[in-house]
Amino acid sequence: MKEFLRILKYARPYLPRLLFGFFLILIIAQSQLFMPLVQRFVIDDILSDVKATELTHSVFGYHLTYSPTHWLIVILSTIITFYALVGLISYVRTIVMEWVSQRILFDMRNQVFSHLQKLSMRFYDVQGTGQILSRVKEDVSSLRSLVTDTSIDILTDMMMFVTVVFIMFRWSWKLTLISLLILPLVAGNYFFFIGRLRVLWRHLRHRWADISTELYESVAGAKVVKAFHRENHQKRRVFRGMRQTLKWQIAIAKYRAAMGRISGFFQSFGTAIVLCYGGYLVIQGEFTIGTLVAYYQFLGRLYGPMMKLININATIQEAMVSSERVFGLLDSQPTVDEVPDAVDLPEIRGHVKFENVTFYYEPENPVLHHISFDAKPDMMVALVGPSGCGKSTISNLIARFYDPTEGTIYIDDHDLCQVTLKSLRNQIGIVLQDNFLFQGSVAENIQFGRLDATEIEVVEASLAANAHQFVVEELPGGYEAEVGERGMRLSGGQKQRIAIARTILRNPRILILDEATSSLDSESESLIQEALDTLMKGRTTFVIAHRLSTILKADMILVMKDGGITEKGTHEQLLELNGLYANMYQKQFKTKPQNIDWLN
Ligand code: ADP
Repeated sequence: MKEFLRILKYARPYLPRLLFGFFLILIIAQSQLFMPLVQRFVIDDILSDVKATELTHSVFGYHLTYSPTHWLIVILSTIITFYALVGLISYVRTIVMEWVSQRILFDMRNQVFSHLQKLSMRFYDVQGTGQILSRVKEDVSSLRSLVTDTSIDILTDMMMFVTVVFIMFRWSWKLTLISLLILPLVAGNYFFFIGRLRVLWRHLRHRWADISTELYESVAGAKVVKAFHRENHQKRRVFRGMRQTLKWQIAIAKYRAAMGRISGFFQSFGTAIVLCYGGYLVIQGEFTIGTLVAYYQFLGRLYGPMMKLININATIQEAMVSSERVFGLLDSQPTVDEVPDAVDLPEIRGHVKFENVTFYYEPENPVLHHISFDAKPDMMVALVGPSGCGKSTISNLIARFYDPTEGTIYIDDHDLCQVTLKSLRNQIGIVLQDNFLFQGSVAENIQFGRLDATEIEVVEASLAANAHQFVVEELPGGYEAEVGERGMRLSGGQKQRIAIARTILRNPRILILDEATSSLDSESESLIQEALDTLMKGRTTFVIAHRLSTILKADMILVMKDGGITEKGTHEQLLELNGLYANMYQKQFKTKPQNIDWLN
């Protein structure tokens, strides 16, 4: 219920329109009573005395006198006019409610997406892509239909139910009580099935989200799938999930069908009793035939909404599964959040200090232990060590994708946890091994670094990144050329240079290069190294590199092993130390290895 109210809150800004829509719905609901009443009038008042030349009846206080045939013509034109009007009102209602419902969908999607942008990396580490996407798409859609379609149905059906019961009671309370007797039977039947259905709906939603992730990965990783000839393997994985959903869908269909049929049986049972007992009342002279026919019609309008109300509850229960998922997302707090009195980092010099920093991604898996170092402004700091020792984690902490579990990180004497994320990230640039480019043109991707950059600034950045030449000479359309999804239409080296241009445009004080030249051929590498050298000038730079040739001139090399810093110094100092670094250096430059457990 609490969640339902929370969903309804999305309708609040559109309340006047919504109420107008509901008002129209009430009118349309009432219109359903029209036909049975006309039928009763025709049978009891017009056809009861077909021989009469003139019949007088009062309609809304007016006494009207016509022959029976004329009465039929009057009734025909009344019915046509009435339904034309109802059609018009229904049209307006559909437009109004559709408007409200689409606005609600728009608002909800916006809110979920904005919240997603706020959440920290830890959220993305845990949730699969499909899980997240299905919340933004399917789950939000199903909530929207709850606010409008379902509430329309509830209101219409409740109004119908109450009005019909009221009229039927006035005609015969005994018959009405008998017709309502099946209500507890239908409700009991519903409660028997709904718990089982809810469990299945929940399983289904989660499984579909997993399948979405697998589908996404199969598409995004199409090249790897093909290269390894794993098409059948992928097919089997997705099929396995889908087969499970098939099983659940069929179980749901079975439960729903059983629930519907049993209720249908009770309904027929009630109808039969009413028909026979009503017939008995006609024989006894307590009821006219016209009233019985109209009563019988009303019964359909009583049972119909009753069944629908019960079914709607099933729809609500189904939507509640979606609401748990959407609100679960909206309620998850960013793990890296700004403190209430966070300050804007002023223009920094780029002094980065780690003081006894310990960090865990997961509580049972410590990654960094007691890391301390001091990187002065404009220094080039290299992080080296075997894969998995925590180098990228250090760069993640500097960019504050995560907060340290213990210890403090300072930038220019500001505790990183006390500053606003915007002011920090505006001054940090990151170039990775595999940079993510967005669908769009080359120019748009460079401009991602600074959205208000002019065309000239984009070209300047591109020149500095050694990208201009290939953009102009090799790409049809130059800066307007589309890079494709994730930059698929560009080579690795080209993507890298676009990413460097993007970072140059940002002009960060602190720069992180995480294996930025690792996966390149030697020609690209020299061009990129040149671009990176330009980029590094006058900035504090952290370089993570496997190839030591790129870090020989570093001001400070931090050698890491198992989440700790084991050696610290310049290239010459570390060679002199003859430890882990010297070992790796000798290995890479094919001199005598001394310590073979380096590349473990
Ligand atoms: P390196 O850059 O030195 O290769 P990383 O800093 O990427 O190493 O990783 C250090 C350790 O942290 C590894 O054991 C890795 O499995 C773990 N790790 C990295 N990222 C995550 C994450 N998002 N969630 C959980 N564990 C992670």
